[in-house]
Parts: sequence; structure tokens; C-alpha cells
Amino acid sequence: MGKEVIIVGGGIVGLSCAYYLNKAGHQVRLFDAGNFSSGASHMNAGYLTPSHIVPLAAPGMIQKGLRYMFHKDSPFYIQPRLRWDLLKWGWKFAQSCTEKHVEQSLQVICDINLFSKDLYLDFKKEKNFDFQLETKGLLMAYNSAKVEQEEAQTVDHARALGLEVTQLDSKQLAALQPKAGIRAAGAFHYLCDAHSTPGQFMQQLYQQLTNEGVECFENSPVTALDFSKGKISGVQTTRGKFTADEVVLCSGVWSARMAHSIGIPISLQAGKGYAIATQQHTGISIPTLLIEPKVAITPMEGFTRFAGTMELSGINKKIEPSRVAAIAKGVQGFYPQLSFSQNELDQAQYGLRPLSPDGLPYIGKHPKCKNLTLATGHAMMGWSLGPATGKLVSEIISEKKPSLDLAPFAPTRKTG
Ligand SMILES: Cc1cc2nc3c(=O)[nH]c(=O)nc-3n(C[C@H](O)[C@H](O)[C@H](O)COP(=O)(O)OP(=O)(O)OC[C@H]3O[C@@H](n4cnc5c(N)ncnc54)[C@H](O)[C@@H]3O)c2cc1C
Repeated sequence: MGKEVIIVGGGIVGLSCAYYLNKAGHQVRLFDAGNFSSGASHMNAGYLTPSHIVPLAAPGMIQKGLRYMFHKDSPFYIQPRLRWDLLKWGWKFAQSCTEKHVEQSLQVICDINLFSKDLYLDFKKEKNFDFQLETKGLLMAYNSAKVEQEEAQTVDHARALGLEVTQLDSKQLAALQPKAGIRAAGAFHYLCDAHSTPGQFMQQLYQQLTNEGVECFENSPVTALDFSKGKISGVQTTRGKFTADEVVLCSGVWSARMAHSIGIPISLQAGKGYAIATQQHTGISIPTLLIEPKVAITPMEGFTRFAGTMELSGINKKIEPSRVAAIAKGVQGFYPQLSFSQNELDQAQYGLRPLSPDGLPYIGKHPKCKNLTLATGHAMMGWSLGPATGKLVSEIISEKKPSLDLAPFAPTRKTG
């Protein structure tokens, strides 16, 4: 028999959980603090990323972080702050920046990404879904020999996992999209990747849920969890108190505070990123990640999006103009003919990536609470991994054998 389930958070992870739980016959209520139209799940680069097999916590990242720390226009920035949560997260992150962690994570990340991509392709076949999902792969473009060499190592890993990657020189790259006018030394083409327009899919998924009778409450934050005898007995919201058999906590970077309130010590930091959109004819038809400036470019439905920056400055809504300008500058370095209007820069959006210290999401239950499932910490891959996470959460709550081994995602895992 179906269970009553409350979902806290309506980003891609929350909506995906609602979709698969509802499909499995559970009675689902979803609460979101916003109105299902903004935040990381709406403004991201829309990549489905089997290519992103190396976790953020990898050797060399600490040195890079320190180097960038005092540059306000660098693609990776940690605002120096004496905060206990940041120090703890940083320590765990440093512990995870090892070859061993990378080796252990490659297959895990690849498997969950491929699984999720297949689920997106399944959505595409459903009658109420008609959204952009293109399988043109992802170009990783570079200019320096050093960066080419670094990326070649990831390519070796990718090929060893069976992913198809080709290399293009400068001319071949330019010929692939002649109108785009890219100037780069070359690119690796990860043919395994795909892309989409996040806002479009989010809207259709939300519509499908409400059509099927899932109650989705907007502007209705969950304010507290009533916790006794190892269980959540009630969920306090701005609409009053609700009860359920099971609760799913998937409120992105905001999940950590709520988990801590009932004694579950997950560690998350907000990785802020920005996106600029233009309706100019850019000639870009294949998603392209500019490796040096770390800008992700996506040809979306009706516009092109340019997303970038990883800024660890806490949970806040501030848009830092120097970082938006740095994205624009990074783009011009590769596409000299492309420039943004002041209005396009002023309209830049931001989103907060929920960063776990080891770069893997938390998916599963914690022994401290019998009826809470965590689904957060997806960092740079939350868009890609939304459907897989939703499916896994549904299997956990339905007490079915999970489609993937959940051990690497256990909220109790030791990072580092
Ligand atoms: C610039 C940028 C580019 C990116 N590009 C990609 C990409 O190409 N591919 C990829 O896979 N990933 C990408 N990501 C990462 C991806 O966007 C995130 O990992 C993903 O959106 C996280 O989804 P989520 O549902 O966990 O969290 P969110 O999208 O943050 O959703 C959390 C929701 O919880 C709600 N909430 C918060 N507190 C409460 C509360 N108390 N009660 C109820 N609701 C609450 C919020 O309102 C929000 O709607 C990118 C991110 C950024 C910033």
C-alpha cells in the first residue's frame, strides 16, 4: 500500500522524487519555499554529464582554491570567512582531494549519470512531455597545452569507462560550427553527454505532477521538523503542521540546517554560480565548456546560456558584477565577435549548488531518523542526476532493491 510522503524542496531533485514516488503509488505532498521558477534548477547549464566523472574534490583543488582566493574575477573563489561550518567543510574537502577518492568515484559518477540520462530519455518518450533534449555531446575547448594535457587524463579515464570521446584540432573545431567563430587550440568532444533547457523541463514536470494530483505548495517553506523517538512526527510549514509516513529532505543547500536540527550532521556549502542569457544568433549549436575560464555554454530553446563561477560565499542572493563580467570576458577570449549588452549582463541570474565535501550526493536514510530520506549535495551535477535521485529515493521508500548501489551516497559515509 502507498505511503504518505512529504517532500521538502521543489528543485529538480524534489520534483523528480515527487514524480517517481507518485508513480510508485505513494501519496505525495511537496512544499517549496519559492514559486517553482527560480534558483539553481532553473538557471543551470542544462548539461547531462556522464563526462563529469572526476569529483570536485580532486588532487590540486586546494592549491587552485588558495591561488584564486584573493581574485574577485577568478572562476573559483572562496570568500575568506571564519565560520565553523566552512572550516569543517574545508577540512573534509581537503581530506577527499586524493587520487584514491577520484579512482573510487569515477565508476560511481559515470553509472549514476548514465542511469539518469536514460531516465531523461524515457521522459522524452512520455506523451505529456515535449522538451529539448539533444544528444550532441559536449565540447571541452581549451587554449593552452597544459590544460589540454590535464583534460587528456580525464579523457583516458572516460574511455576506460567506455565513454566515447574524440579530439578535434583548431580547424576541425571551427568547422564543426562555422557560424560560431570559435578560436581555440582544440577540444575534446564527449559524445556521451546531452543537454536540455532546464526551465522548460521543470515547468513540464511540475505541470505533470499537478495534473496527476500531487499537491505542490509554493511559497510554503517548511519551518521545522517535529522529531521524537527517532522519527519525524510532524512537518511544520507556513501553512500549518502536516504529518506523513515518510519525509524527503531535498531542499538543496538549505537541507543542511534542517538536517542538523534533528542531529544529522551532513556538511554542505553553497557554490554560487551565475548565468548570462542572450537571444543573439551565436551560431553555437553544440554545448561547449571553455576550460580555462570555466564557462559552460548551452544552446537552449530560444536562447544561448553562458554559465560559470564557483563562489563559496555562503547562502546569499548577492550578484557580484565582477564575476558576471569575468564570464563575459572568458567568452570573448574564445568568441572574439561575441559581446553582451549591458542589459544582458544586468539580467544575469544566480544559483546555489549544494556542495558536499567529497563531491558526491547524499542519497539515503540516516540511522538517526527512521522516516527521513536525504537527497541533496549534488554540486555541479544536480541537473544531470535529478531523475536518477528521484528514482532511487522512490525505491528506498518503496523498500525495493535500488537500481544502483547506494553505499557511495550514504549520508553516514566517511568523507576523506
Ligand atoms: C551556474 C550553474 C550551472 C550549473 N550547470 C549544471 C549543469 O549543466 N548540469 C548539472 O547537472 N548541474 C548543473 N548545476 C548544478 C545544479 O543546478 C544543482 O546541482 C541542482 O539544481 C540542485 O538541485 P536541488 O533540487 O538539489 O536544489 P535547488 O535547485 O536549489 O532546489 C532546492 C529547493 O528547495 C527549496 N527550499 C529551500 N528551503 C526550503 C524549505 N525550508 N522548505 C521548502 N523548500 C525549501 C528552494 O526554494 C528550492 O526550490 C549548475 C548550477 C549552477 C549554479
